[in-house]
Amino acid sequence: MLPLKEKDRVRILSAVARKGPSYQTIRIVVINISLAILLFIPLSGTVRVDIWRGHHLLFGEPADLAKALGGFIISMAILYGLTFLSNMIVGRFFCGWGCPVGFVSRLGEEVDVKGKKGRSKRVISHLAGAGFVATFVAAVMLWWVDPRVLIEGSMKARIITLSVFAILWLGGYLHAFRWRFGFCRTVCPIGLYYRYVTSQAPIGIVFSEVPDPCIECGACETICPVNLDPKHLGEFTGAPQDDPDAEPDRYGDAECLRCGDCIEACRMVFKAKPDVVPPLRFGHPENKKSGDEDDAAEPAETEPLRPPTAVS
Ligand code: SF4
Ligand code: SF4
Repeated sequence: MLPLKEKDRVRILSAVARKGPSYQTIRIVVINISLAILLFIPLSGTVRVDIWRGHHLLFGEPADLAKALGGFIISMAILYGLTFLSNMIVGRFFCGWGCPVGFVSRLGEEVDVKGKKGRSKRVISHLAGAGFVATFVAAVMLWWVDPRVLIEGSMKARIITLSVFAILWLGGYLHAFRWRFGFCRTVCPIGLYYRYVTSQAPIGIVFSEVPDPCIECGACETICPVNLDPKHLGEFTGAPQDDPDAEPDRYGDAECLRCGDCIEACRMVFKAKPDVVPPLRFGHPENKKSGDEDDAAEPAETEPLRPPTAVS
């Protein structure tokens, strides 16, 4: 059974999907680049620690275990460093757009969304999800074992390799259908680390009621995979009492994945009113304006639209 939060999110995702093309297409491109890098490094022999028969590789040449492990650690540090740098500019953008684990969650959601359109669409979504999880697991395993184990390995080596693959694949599949973004919210060590080391990235989600006002429908909050209220992102939550020189925290800035789901939900709400500018968009948090500000324009007349409970 999925938690209520995930069910409500799927309900809004389904409404967004009916709106037409979404960020998901761009996300698929970004994810495939991530996956290609993960696959390229071990397949090209740039780094591989071969726990099957000890044929370790570093820069395409045979290497001893210590050097190959060193190559593995440095590769991980470089990949981590790249995501860390991107975090300084666009916050947890990698979590929202480039992380294969987060994408697996989305594939599980896709099954629920497409499932509403018929059995065949549901089956295709299941196959796409299963294929992606299999490729991701294979990419991870290729760092640790030469794929020739499946042809040249002993029966025992083949069984062990296939069993590890099956267990990891099953774990990925369960993640897609049981845990989804609960993992990102509470377990993922990289995401949790980012939350504490970065905030106030210059690019984030901006909420502005100028020129058109928010109708308080709640769709953006409902769809947010990490339980934020996108209307208040970046607002100061007050300077720390014990250190007046410290930068004040901004609400949600470090947690936000920059996934853009809230923006798409907001656009969907105003779909029937193309002349209305939806209040949520990507931008610089300092450009944030609210209806309370002195320079805020008089809100335009907007008829109440359907609340999220009616969006199904
Ligand atoms: S606030 Fe918007 S962009 Fe940030 S995580 Fe939530 S839905 Fe994604
Ligand atoms: S989805 Fe848009 S209109 Fe609805 S509450 Fe969020 S910001 Fe306001």
